[in-house]
Amino acid sequence: MGFEKTLLIVKPDGVARGLVGEVLSRIEQKGLRIEKMKTIQMDMKLAESHYIEHKGKPYYDELIKYITEAPVVVAIIGGENAIASVRRIMGPTDPLEATPGSIRGAYATSTTRNLVHGSDSQEAAKREIELFFPESKE
Ligand code: ADP
Ligand code: MG
Repeated sequence: MGFEKTLLIVKPDGVARGLVGEVLSRIEQKGLRIEKMKTIQMDMKLAESHYIEHKGKPYYDELIKYITEAPVVVAIIGGENAIASVRRIMGPTDPLEATPGSIRGAYATSTTRNLVHGSDSQEAAKREIELFFPESKE
């Protein structure tokens, strides 16, 4: 609670479909701020490190293939309750459960290819920010 930082990723389908501006616009309109941002191509090592908690899940191989298939935009988002706030703007993992007002509800049809990532806890946010922006380690 209070001021937080979280890691946002616009996944390969979001970048390829030209939805980076739409995602960032919703985040800015909410009152959150983009503190750092870059476009990168994730390699296997970075993808496996980012999604380490999912290793062994039935969807894991598909997930790694998807996240490394094309460039992603990664950003540090800061603001009041930024972690939960970004998760609300994204909507739930399954786009069928996401309301049309959320990014996934409005633009995604697949549980794998669901456009965006947002850290789900303070511990995850810290770990993920350090993974993608090692220079910002405090
Ligand atoms: P979220 O991105 O909402 O935090 P998870 O952390 O549970 O979701 O899963 C990470 C990513 O793995 C999801 O965003 C999605 O791309 C993929 N994924 C998760 N669960 C499934 C599933 N049941 N089937 C296919 N892909 C999944
Ligand atoms: Mg997650």
